[in-house]
Amino acid sequence: MASSRDHATAHLTIDLDAIADNWRLLAARARPAEAAAVVKADAYGLGASRVAPALAKAGARTFFVATLDEGLALRVLLAEALGETIADALAVFVLNGVSGGGEEELIAHRLIPVLNSLGDVEAWARAARARQQRLPAALHVDTGMARLGLPADEVELLAADPTPLAGLDVRYLLSHLACADEPDHPLNARQLASLRAIAARLPKAPLSFANSAGIFLGPAYRFDLVRPGAALYGISPCPSRPNPMRQVVRLQAKVLQVREIDSPQSVGYGATHQAGGPERIATVGVGYADGVFRSLSNRGSGYLGDQRLPLVGRVSMDLVTFDVTTLPAARIHPGALIDLIGPRQTVDEVAAAAGTIGYEVLTALGRRYHRAYLGGRS
Ligand SMILES: *Cc1c(COP(=O)(O)O)cnc(C)c1O
Repeated sequence: MASSRDHATAHLTIDLDAIADNWRLLAARARPAEAAAVVKADAYGLGASRVAPALAKAGARTFFVATLDEGLALRVLLAEALGETIADALAVFVLNGVSGGGEEELIAHRLIPVLNSLGDVEAWARAARARQQRLPAALHVDTGMARLGLPADEVELLAADPTPLAGLDVRYLLSHLACADEPDHPLNARQLASLRAIAARLPKAPLSFANSAGIFLGPAYRFDLVRPGAALYGISPCPSRPNPMRQVVRLQAKVLQVREIDSPQSVGYGATHQAGGPERIATVGVGYADGVFRSLSNRGSGYLGDQRLPLVGRVSMDLVTFDVTTLPAARIHPGALIDLIGPRQTVDEVAAAAGTIGYEVLTALGRRYHRAYLGGRS
């Protein structure tokens, strides 16, 4: 349902060259570890069909998705964009593993499951035996998230009897950090020690530990493969320091109407904003149905050029209202474009105002925007 540029009341511009630059920066930082690219959830909402080929052209050779369906779609789109030969050389890992019995399709499409439990390991080993073929896999061990990955008791069982692994080509032993964006959090070092101890007990395999923020915890966390997602898309991997990543997203929405208020009155649902005296209100054509969170009501901002415009009143489904009183009337008219994400307001800043994280802002970006991609050729 993406709209044509003329009809759309909002434009989303995604800079593929910035994504490629971000990958190169992370890859340089991670070396000698390899840098993968995490493109789950449609490349964090930005469109895997454009983003993944751009990352491959930048040099990424290893991709991570969450689900089998994302993996199947990624295989098809990489082959279409890059040709079979190049696409075939790329590794695609499926984080959610073989749960639900996707063995046939994983094998048929050369997708590599991340095995998250002893049950996963046994299922994948059975599939390998049935085909008399060594099957590639990553083995995920839990070091402190209690989410996915083999828990300690399953690691013990596997260490005592690693025969299920004999039929498998374990490309990586991986684990995931819970607090990488808090460099001083004691759990980081505890998870690192735990991963090292587990690695020493299991058959030797390359290690993968760091997400975007983990890369910035230092060389000890990088091992053989790092798995950045968020930082590729401009989200800061080190929130307490200046963001080293290029911004990727610009979201501009059209002014639909400008209202001059001259006597006291309220604005929007719930009458949560009261105009006490003369005020000028611009109504803009995006709302929570487009991923502009309702929690931005009376808290968010838009920008016209460098001028900050307070978001006043409630965010409704298709509309938001800005106080544009400080702007000269000539500058604000129907059709004017207000930046909701852009040069003056990053994804992280929007997230902070909404009480969430940049990941949620990106993955909530709506389907009604006219989407345009910049660059992506190298
Ligand atoms: C999503 C995910 C990543 C990427 O994390 P970012 O914080 O976005 O860099 C890496 N590893 C695993 C297991 C993930 O689920």
